[in-house]
Amino acid sequence: MADTMKALVVLEPGRFEIQEVPIPVPGPSEVLARVRAVSICGTDVHLVRGDYPGFWPPAFPFIPGHEWAGEIVALGPGADLHGWRVGDRVAGTSHDACGVCQKCVEGRYNLCENYGKPGLHRQYGHNYQGADAEYVTHGVKTIFRLPAGLDFATGAVIDPASIALHVANRGEVRPGDTVVITGAGAIGLLAGDTSLVRGAARVILVERQPLRLAKARAMGFETIDTEAGDPVATLREMTGGLGADVALECAGVPVTVQWALGMLRRGGRCAAVGIPTVGVEIAMQKLVLDELELVGSRASAGEMRRVMPLVEQGRVRVRDVMTHDFPLAAYGEAIATFNDPDSGAVKIIITP
Ligand SMILES: [Zn+2]
Ligand SMILES: [Zn+2]
Repeated sequence: MADTMKALVVLEPGRFEIQEVPIPVPGPSEVLARVRAVSICGTDVHLVRGDYPGFWPPAFPFIPGHEWAGEIVALGPGADLHGWRVGDRVAGTSHDACGVCQKCVEGRYNLCENYGKPGLHRQYGHNYQGADAEYVTHGVKTIFRLPAGLDFATGAVIDPASIALHVANRGEVRPGDTVVITGAGAIGLLAGDTSLVRGAARVILVERQPLRLAKARAMGFETIDTEAGDPVATLREMTGGLGADVALECAGVPVTVQWALGMLRRGGRCAAVGIPTVGVEIAMQKLVLDELELVGSRASAGEMRRVMPLVEQGRVRVRDVMTHDFPLAAYGEAIATFNDPDSGAVKIIITP
């Protein structure tokens, strides 16, 4: 095996190039994987643009990418004890948590209290080298066996599918519920499916972009076009004036957060996975008097394995949200396509 690889290196905010860099060496309980597919996440676009200075990434230059699949090519010491062998096909996720703090031992490793502390925690593609490269190292806690029936491109979308399952779990969707989802991007569309898996009777997607509305309708969801009038009033009309039992906020814009809360039925629950970059004014009076619940939903915690059979069975329709693919060398074109509302892009797959 060669000792260098091609990788996407972000040199400074907004400036990146494909470079020849050393292939990383797997440490204890880590594997080295040949990356076969990596999917572009909204977070990547922010990170490449430098929207989270000093945090994601802590410093430039940096190799992003955290939704990926590939095959193991080398094992670090102890990785074999977990059953891993060279040639195994895996899907990766980003949170490599300490496993020891109170949140980790309670299974909420997405909330690791040692977040970002060197030697204890890393989040691949956020504060540690990611998978936009020919090879990546990952700790054994962050790789999951890819079933034979799922190809690598699908494997690269298992991480966002697990996030969509987590937000439906955080929303505590119950059989018969009406679920409204703000934002028909990849997480919103997949959260429609995970809501159905949990037994939702109705799923209504709220979106502005015509191509995403068309995609949501093609997948069989009801839709509200936010350009066509007041979406909160429309949702209330569609629900006999009552509102939705559960809102899943998947857009991360102040107004969509306000809509999501405004659309809730009395006693309703909103789980928010979109991350607004500015503060949001909340109608506290309604929240108190209607006993609304508002909870956050961060990444996933245990849903990687749980979502894979649902993807295999076609109940979480990952293939339906995959719209484009590009080679790693065309990353600039891929990002431009992702940002172009007229492209119809939802999930873009990069092949290193
Ligand atoms: Zn992501
Ligand atoms: Zn921890």
